[in-house]
Order: sequence, then C-alpha cells, then structure tokens
Amino acid sequence: MPEFISINGQDIGLGEQKEILLNIARLPTYTPIDLSVNVFRGKEDGPVLLLTGGLHGDEINGVEIIRRMIFKDLIQPDKGTVIAIPLVNIYGFIQKQRDLPDGKDINRSFPGSKNGSLARLVAHTLMEKIFPYIDYGIDFHTGGDARANYPQIRSQLKKEENRKLAEAFAAPITVNSSLIDKSFRKAAQNNGKQILVFETGEAHRFDSFGIQEGINGTLRLMKYLNMRNDAPNPNEPEVYQKSTWVRARYAGLFQQKIKLGDHVKKRQVLGHISDPFGHEWFKVVSPQTGRIIGLNYAPVVHKGDALLHIAYNK
Ligand SMILES: [Zn+2]
Repeated sequence: MPEFISINGQDIGLGEQKEILLNIARLPTYTPIDLSVNVFRGKEDGPVLLLTGGLHGDEINGVEIIRRMIFKDLIQPDKGTVIAIPLVNIYGFIQKQRDLPDGKDINRSFPGSKNGSLARLVAHTLMEKIFPYIDYGIDFHTGGDARANYPQIRSQLKKEENRKLAEAFAAPITVNSSLIDKSFRKAAQNNGKQILVFETGEAHRFDSFGIQEGINGTLRLMKYLNMRNDAPNPNEPEVYQKSTWVRARYAGLFQQKIKLGDHVKKRQVLGHISDPFGHEWFKVVSPQTGRIIGLNYAPVVHKGDALLHIAYNK
C-alpha cells in the first residue's frame, strides 16, 4: 500500500485518520444520505482490513462493536489500515428494519449496479469505492427476526486462508458455512478477498457478551495480520463443520428447555410445542449431538418455522 491511499478523491496518509462521506441517494424528504467511511492508517504500511456493520439495518450489534472500537481508541492500527463502516444500511436503520424501504436485501444484491435498486446501488458503491483497497474484511451480523445467534464466525473452512483467519479471530464458536449467492462474502471471494462473517445476538437488541467477543476477535485478527502487537487471549477453539435448523413439526407455542449456547445430545428433548388450550404437548428432539448456535425467542410458531440452529460434527 503506498504512502497515500485515495478514497473518493481524498488522500489519507500514513498515521492519519479521516472520515470520508460517500453519497448514496437522498431520502424522499430530500435529505442527503452519506455512507460514513472511517479510515485509520498506521504509521507503517501493512494490510487493509474492512469492518462493516449494519448491512442489515436492524442488526445493531455490529454497529456497536465498531462504534465502541472507535470510541475506546482500539481501532487505530500500528501497521496497515482499518476502513470502518459502522452502518452500511442507513435507510433500514432509520426504519428499524433489515432491508431497504423497497424490501430489497443489500446482502443479496452484490456486486450491485449504479442504476439498479437502492440495495444494488449501496452494494455497487462498496464494490467500486472501497473494495479495491482492502485485503480482508469482517462483516458483523445478528440473527434475523426474533432469532438470536451465539457469538460465532462463519467461514468457508475448507479454504486454508479462511480457516486461518477464523482461527485467528477465535470466536467462541466457528462454523463452516458455504457462500450465499449475491452476498457480500461471495462478492469478496470472487474478487480474491476474504471476508469473515461474525454473528451475535438478535436484531434490535444489544448482546453485551457478543459485542465484547466481536471486539476481542477483531483485535486478535489485527494482531495475526501484524497490525497491532497485543490482543485479548483467544477462546478455546470449538469448530463445527455442519449446522442444521430444527423446524416446528406442529404449529403452536414453543416452550424451550435449553438455552442459547448449550451443548446438547442426540435425541435430547429441547423443548415442547403446545396448543394454546392446554390439551396437546409435542416434544422437540435434537437430531444431532452438538451445540445450540441459534435460538428462536418468538414462542408462537407455524409448522415449518425455525426453532433452533444446531452446529455439529460427524
Ligand atoms: Zn444480517
């Protein structure tokens, strides 16, 4: 990386910090909406790490992870550059929703286009203005709807570089996860760049344990990339190659007998589904021995609704 990098026509030199505003598109009120891109350069050259939060506008744990790292002065690298975009989907954030106002998902709109939907425009802006500069990235997410995730890294572990980055982050749990079409992670991979996805907690809520794990993991990854000298101690590695959702076989009220993060045995009773009138009572049984990495906190379920996400090896 040269002495200066130039994003959107603005130069950022070694040892400098700068906020760069990338214009996206106005609200119907004619209020301009700019993407706030915060660039932190070390005094020496090194890798460029991108941190993105709030790609889904209601997923605020990632916003808080990056905000806290900036606020506590943890984000400035000794070597290399951190490009931090705490809030990608400003439109969704304003409306407290995952998607853009037209219902389109930015994370299913990559690589995007200049004249497509707003989701595709946001994706295109990231790909055009930011992507050429980065080497690695961490994209922070939470569970959707009322589903909470235990702090976890999702990565394609059969690729050695991905596996090493995931090991360096050392989240409480690492789960092998294939690439989703038109996602940010897949667009990165297609451009020869590696993005880890960190998931914790649920939409609309802070998850303090997971926020701290997100910060700690980012600091460990920065240390691994020689961007800083110290980092918190890693978690004991717990890596799962597979994961599966347990779905409701009956509609009704889901009564949980386990907690998020519990280790469970195959055929263990995880909860029950009852009717609202006190007559029927069906068991929900674990299909695998593994760990609960996602849990639905909304008790009213239809047949086929996702109840629990179990990570396992076999
Ligand atoms: Zn998300």
